[in-house]
Amino acid sequence: MSDVILRLALPSPLRRLFDYRATAAMARQPLTPGMRIRVPFGRREMIGILVEVCATSEVPADKLKAAIALLDPTSPLPPALFKLCLWTAQYYQHSLGDTLSWALPVLLRQGEAAEIRQERFWQVTADARLDDPRIARAPRQREALQTLSQHPHGVAHSLLSKLGLNKDSLDLLLAKQLVQLEVRRQRPATRHEHWLAQPELPLNDEQRAAFEAVRSGFGSFHAFLLAGVTGSGKTEVYLQLIRETLEAGKQALVLIPEINLGPQTLARFEQRFNARIALLHSAVNDRERLDAWLAARDGEADIIIGTRSALFTPMKNPGLIIIDEEHDGSYKQQEGLRYHARDLALVRAHQENVPILLGSATPSLESLHNAHTGRYGLLRMNHRAGGAKQPRFLRLDVRSRPLDSGISGPLQQAIGKTLEAGQQVLVFLNRRGFAPTLLCHDCGWMSGCPRCDARMTVHQRSGVLRCHHCGYDERLPLRCPKCAHVDLRPVGAGTERAEERLKVLFPDFPVLRVDRDSTSRKDAMHNLFTTIQRGQPSILVGTQMLAKGHHFPRVTLVAILDADGGLFSGDFRASERMAQLIVQVAGRAGRAEEPGKVIVQTHLAEHPLLVQLTEEGYFAFAEQALSERRSAGLPPFAHLALLRAEAHKPGQAEGFLDEACSAAERLLAEQGGQGIELLGPVPAPMERRAGRFRAQLLLQASARAPLHRLISAWLLELEQMPSGRQVRWSLDVDPVDLY
Ligand code: ADP
Ligand code: ZN
Ligand code: ZN
Repeated sequence: MSDVILRLALPSPLRRLFDYRATAAMARQPLTPGMRIRVPFGRREMIGILVEVCATSEVPADKLKAAIALLDPTSPLPPALFKLCLWTAQYYQHSLGDTLSWALPVLLRQGEAAEIRQERFWQVTADARLDDPRIARAPRQREALQTLSQHPHGVAHSLLSKLGLNKDSLDLLLAKQLVQLEVRRQRPATRHEHWLAQPELPLNDEQRAAFEAVRSGFGSFHAFLLAGVTGSGKTEVYLQLIRETLEAGKQALVLIPEINLGPQTLARFEQRFNARIALLHSAVNDRERLDAWLAARDGEADIIIGTRSALFTPMKNPGLIIIDEEHDGSYKQQEGLRYHARDLALVRAHQENVPILLGSATPSLESLHNAHTGRYGLLRMNHRAGGAKQPRFLRLDVRSRPLDSGISGPLQQAIGKTLEAGQQVLVFLNRRGFAPTLLCHDCGWMSGCPRCDARMTVHQRSGVLRCHHCGYDERLPLRCPKCAHVDLRPVGAGTERAEERLKVLFPDFPVLRVDRDSTSRKDAMHNLFTTIQRGQPSILVGTQMLAKGHHFPRVTLVAILDADGGLFSGDFRASERMAQLIVQVAGRAGRAEEPGKVIVQTHLAEHPLLVQLTEEGYFAFAEQALSERRSAGLPPFAHLALLRAEAHKPGQAEGFLDEACSAAERLLAEQGGQGIELLGPVPAPMERRAGRFRAQLLLQASARAPLHRLISAWLLELEQMPSGRQVRWSLDVDPVDLY
């Protein structure tokens, strides 16, 4: 045993480091931060990341355990990534060990070697002969040996089936030492001479201005917000900036929202470049993810494209970071480490001294505010690149008009006219299922979820009631569970009901539904879109899945069935989200000859935010919404942190939060924290969810520094509170959803 102390971050929620004693053998190695070390932890073993090497520990010598094994000869994570993780852990007040386990590929956390995949190769041994008597009566082995002997350099294991080689036969040949198995490192693909696989489009004036602005920021940290309407050609600007980056010998990191994962987006990057592209998204398996991560780290990938967590991909020569659809909600992680990938991307760009470009047709109010205050350069593109015209918006007041499955009479006529003219219609309704509630007309019973304070949605086609909050479902009842009468009525409309009704109203035209229920099969979405692209008059009904990525040139009418939810929700971000959705959906429509029309059904036709949005556009809406936020002291003019708690027994979560609140008040008095308000504790808007009672305490601060000073001291106390052990609690810094 040595006297060298290893201070490790372990994958645990405990916000502290753990000391272990290095073995004599370990102590002789050069030990650097980032190396992985296997250690005993309770009755288990864990893999920790070395943070520092010390000479002494506060742990008494007889309690100090010895580390088990050093897993890396050098640190697998470069210092820049380590630094980003340190910053992240501190900012989000999260354990460093747990932060690292969110940031690193699964296989690295599990102890896999940090090397690019080792491919196994099958090869005939030097003295193998086809007439070996041991295979004289084994035709399949003989055949396999023959095939293999035609490949003197061996055959990669992954190619066996392509060559018709059967693994069992090879195993038998291996046992007879007629073939051998060799492990080789995959050779890295080499850089290309010519980056472009496809000619670039000549940029129009707006695109050129945006492109030049970002390019002049190359080589050091600069942040830009590219606010360009849908179809203005933002992607073309990204592509040309990436080409510049590659020509400068650097790498580009592109983050895309989860919902944009469609092959269309990725294909545009792959078709444009002769480049090594590393993909890191949810459809990539653990091994591919590790290989992509390593390739990026070692400079063997030129472009890194991925969703939220790809932000933590190390790069050898970072040159540019792009965040597409920067307003998208999927950049915020809602569990464990509650980070915002867009916000962290700015930190990363700053740390690595590279430019960053945030793009969106509907920028978040946060980013617009940063552009107004000069922190980001604002680049506007107001015209569609292909020449298509912007759609026109119409508010349709549906007060006192009967709604037939959510569709008013005038809307029905407009849909009919569009179809008659040979064009397509897009009907947007952000609610899956047939109807949001089932109601007994005799006794007033409603389909409440037994585990949540919410109603279960009617899914007619699959014959179930399903809770969209906890996933609980049960058979659709034939009689009222309370009074046994049969007059059960679905109330309100979801996409399934709208689809059904539209099929009845317009029997001569195809009606296609796009939502999570209809597209759960892998190619359902693809088939749907090919049908649409063919262009015959038809109706598309769907949820926000329709709002992203795809362009439907034949759609000339977009119908928003219900815009009201976003206008009277308790969540202060609801109107921003509604506006973004409406504008994004509207952006799918329209073409050169004919501007699209967007009909917004509402009961609040005079609501100022809706008037601004529909008459003057998203940016006018955003100004109005920002000034409301300013007067209400809400983000981006204030900073929030939300302490959430939930427990099986009612009152328990509030009990903990009450104590937490007193502790915070005391700390505030001690620290003289100015401009911090404690709001709550209050029950969460949906108090019971999945069988747990939930409550929350909101901290609202006019400045960030005192807020962070408070919460770092506060969490130390919360971690010690006995009442905290009976509840599940978490702190969300910069929460996006206040539920
Ligand atoms: P955005 O990403 O802003 O929604 P896209 O990059 O998808 O816009 O561009 C919309 C359409 O305009 C695409 O079909 C694209 O090929 C076309 N386009 C983009 N830039 C140009 C250009 N400079 N000249 C002609 N067409 C362009
Ligand atoms: Zn009843
Ligand atoms: Zn439920």
